[in-house]
Amino acid sequence: MLREFDEGTDLKVKFVKKLSTSGDHETDIVYESGDLPDDVGGARGLVWCDDAISDKKCDQHYARFKSRTPVQTTGCHETGHAVGLTHGAQAEPKVANRHSSLGCMRAPYTDGPYLGGHNVAMINKTY
Ligand SMILES: [Zn+2]
Repeated sequence: MLREFDEGTDLKVKFVKKLSTSGDHETDIVYESGDLPDDVGGARGLVWCDDAISDKKCDQHYARFKSRTPVQTTGCHETGHAVGLTHGAQAEPKVANRHSSLGCMRAPYTDGPYLGGHNVAMINKTY
């Protein structure tokens, strides 16, 4: 699933053997499984910033999945949040949460583990 981000966008995905949670070279996204808070409803995953640099920048995100083996669409969706993508209703300009350009960022999850054209454009514009 991360190949979609590595090969389909300007991002470069690198797997590290040793997790770094402090200092200048923190692991950008930490994936883990575990319980989710009750207030996230039926979500299968959740992402949060663990080390904010500013209101809009984060040095390290955590992505937690209910399942130890989340479906790839869920991994794509939560990784999208970790790199700054939103649901359509929170986007500017707003689009429907199920808009075809949102790919795996559609809410609720519907499609496969693929980024939509809008997702790719926003990632490449940001990174
Ligand atoms: Zn979401």
